Amino acid sequence: MGKKHTPERTCVVCREKRDKRALHRIVRTDAGLELDPSGKMNGRGAYLCDKKSCWEKAVNTTILSKSLRVTLTEQDRERLKQAIP
Ligand SMILES: [Zn+2]
Repeated sequence: MGKKHTPERTCVVCREKRDKRALHRIVRTDAGLELDPSGKMNGRGAYLCDKKSCWEKAVNTTILSKSLRVTLTEQDRERLKQAIP
């Protein structure tokens, strides 16, 4: 059985490599940070795995804002908190 090549991305918090489809993409848009379930939205994106601890760190630390080169607003943090898997 040959292993099919699937694109891999890295969770910005724990740095674990995962299949792109197993990660959640966060995109920086003019309206703030948005979840991108399709993975096709334009804009600078960052990936998070589905570990709750990674999302909490994304909300509570500067890891995500550094990666996206943006300052997280209160609204962005709220949106992320609500999206925690
Ligand atoms: Zn992670």
